[in-house]
Amino acid sequence: MVYLMDFEEKRKRLVESLKSRDFLTKPSVIKAMLKVPRHKFLPEGAISSAYIDSPLSIGMGQTISAPHMNAMMCELLELKEGDKVLEVGTGSGYHAALCAEIVAPENSLNPGHVYTLERHLELAESARENLSNAGYANYVTVIHGDGTLGYPKEAPYDKILVTASSPKKVPPPLKKQLKIGGLLCIPTGSKEWGQDLYIVTKKKDKFESKRITGVRFVPLIGEWGFPE
Ligand code: SAM
Repeated sequence: MVYLMDFEEKRKRLVESLKSRDFLTKPSVIKAMLKVPRHKFLPEGAISSAYIDSPLSIGMGQTISAPHMNAMMCELLELKEGDKVLEVGTGSGYHAALCAEIVAPENSLNPGHVYTLERHLELAESARENLSNAGYANYVTVIHGDGTLGYPKEAPYDKILVTASSPKKVPPPLKKQLKIGGLLCIPTGSKEWGQDLYIVTKKKDKFESKRITGVRFVPLIGEWGFPE
């Protein structure tokens, strides 16, 4: 019990720190970051670092992003109740849970849904388990596969979130699967350094993209990503 309260207190402090650094401003994102238990998405050895603002290893050479990056991407996407979201790069499942908490809050009469794709089978399976343990199984569908192809079965999406760095441009299947008026958040650039985070808006006859900041993500590997 003391252990549980400790996590809640640490989560509150993390959220206060993100607010004071202007990474968190929107009430719905703040509420989600206060509620989703990040420690339930980590391997045993990393649990004590759950509420430090840092990326952490989740196995298979992959990472869970730093909380400030989760917050920034959720805010940029302007997620709202009822949105249908596609995430490319499930990893631990934590970011998908944050999105679900915003698009399908408790007692919602119009709950949205999150579809999330992971290329590593082992991570897709453990993310499914993490999401279930944390209570998000009904609002997040984890699919094992190449996310650069998107998930046409449920398209179009209101919002698309890519959590691995794409080589230079947005994979064309993702552009196609975004609704007109929809937003897509993606890091692009080289395989390791020199990446930039973009927010892309799909207009009726064009795409508008805005560079937000320099970032560092693991590479997006797949048909429209980097070769394996
Ligand atoms: N959103 C995750 C979380 O909350 O833990 C963190 C994601 S991690 C930074 C990026 C993930 O993208 C890795 O798990 C990696 O295996 C995955 N990935 C890379 N290329 C992919 C692709 N083409 N399709 C699906 N997943 C991919």
